Amino acid sequence: MYCSALSAEALPIKANDHAGVDYMLRAMQVRPASLFSFRVPAFILAATLVPSAAFCQQPMRHQQILELVDRHAAHFSGTSRTIWEYAELGYREEKSSTLLRRELQAAGFRVQAPVADEPTAFVATYGQGEPVIGILGEFDALPGLSQAAAPDRSPVVAGAPGHGCGHNLLGSGAALAAVVLKEYMERNHVAGTLRYYGTPAEEGGGGKVYMIRAGLFRDVDVVLQWHPASKNAVNNGGMLAINSAKFLFHGVAAHAAIAADRGRSALDAVMLMGNGVEFLREHIPSNSRIHYVITNGGAAPNVVPDTAELYLYARNPSSVVLGGVWDRILKIAQGAALMTETTLDVRDIGGSANVLPNDALAKVAQRNLEEVGGLRYTPEEKHFAEELQKSLPPGGAGELDSAASIQPLQRPDPNAAAASTDVGDVSWNVPTIGFETATFVPGVVPHTWQATASAGMSIGQKGMIVAARALAATGADLFSDRQLVLDAKADFRRQTEGRAYQSVIPAGQKPPLTYRNK
Ligand SMILES: [Zn+2]
Ligand SMILES: [Zn+2]
Repeated sequence: MYCSALSAEALPIKANDHAGVDYMLRAMQVRPASLFSFRVPAFILAATLVPSAAFCQQPMRHQQILELVDRHAAHFSGTSRTIWEYAELGYREEKSSTLLRRELQAAGFRVQAPVADEPTAFVATYGQGEPVIGILGEFDALPGLSQAAAPDRSPVVAGAPGHGCGHNLLGSGAALAAVVLKEYMERNHVAGTLRYYGTPAEEGGGGKVYMIRAGLFRDVDVVLQWHPASKNAVNNGGMLAINSAKFLFHGVAAHAAIAADRGRSALDAVMLMGNGVEFLREHIPSNSRIHYVITNGGAAPNVVPDTAELYLYARNPSSVVLGGVWDRILKIAQGAALMTETTLDVRDIGGSANVLPNDALAKVAQRNLEEVGGLRYTPEEKHFAEELQKSLPPGGAGELDSAASIQPLQRPDPNAAAASTDVGDVSWNVPTIGFETATFVPGVVPHTWQATASAGMSIGQKGMIVAARALAATGADLFSDRQLVLDAKADFRRQTEGRAYQSVIPAGQKPPLTYRNK
């Protein structure tokens, strides 16, 4: 069943009605500076999202979904702003996790917390029976990226964490989609189980891997997820598999001048391991990435260091190829210990798989994202974005209008620059599809103060609402169309045939709740 026109209630004013937007802005009596900084009413956010030509061919269920998203948009924009202010690091997201749990509980979800030996992980469930559809939420911040919602470098607290990956939006937008889907299911007596997964410590802590181990995804049919970005697209696979570990060498301390011959330097072992890794680079697939830091290099030049530590990440588009590279890195570490007569502990081993594509889900996700459309900036947001773009490297700024459009569906290029995510592990266990939306000013990359700034104001919140619309519409399709779920599962079986999921994290290892050095 298709609608003949989008109802006036769904969008109080037309998105391309500039006079209407101007009127709203005047009515709000907001000064431009305050507009970026705080919560923007739902009607303004909704009014500046871009309706696509496909709006009027949407199934009726999507019309309901859009109305519900608009109803809750301002509230969850506020939630995203509160979590942005909390800016808690991985496994320490007590306030952020509690806030999201409370929101979901208040909306009628049953909440199980904590789970998987992770104090801030939780699962919120609504409904029962099949299909079981999961939505992933993240809420951890990054160290050192504290930043006001301002277009110039202005930390709120110098050196403090900030939401430079936009996970405040990710967790809140996923919760918005979940609450909307629950209301849709209730209103239409839709059978099935909806779950929101509160997944902590995405930034290096591998929170989802331990949730998978605890069996929390075992009965799930399809997982939906999204991530903040500077464009609107469906993410059909991609990202890099990653292995990480701390290589701690133990030597013998000695006076570095009087009795250097008695010493066995752990720092020498670290340096030799680094050199070995540099020589290795030439002889591994060129789309690999290896990066490391020295987290302990000794205390004083006149003491031979008896402990030293190198913290290393290695990545490749394929988990299988990465496994081979990792084995060689371990040999280099053992070689460095042998050369220096030190001993080696490899600890805090972490890792995530690459994200598997799912073509059946990608097609539906793309259609829905195109229906939802992108977003348009108000004049004040445009001014903010242009100011922010002045801080980007030459040629780094993207077209502001690009936030209004949707990228065509394509498989990721395995040679393109990419990051890693523990969503990869989920995708090896459950058919998974993801969106990215233009929450960051075009040209801004994640893990920067510019991303923190965007994630704390209305541009980020508008992108979050686009994601929530696309997630909820896709969820509604999955609950309504059993064949779609079967197709997704068939595609998943094809992708994983003969390739069993195996995490690099040792079987008995507990979540690294104190994995940071500070
Ligand atoms: Zn990140
Ligand atoms: Zn992220």
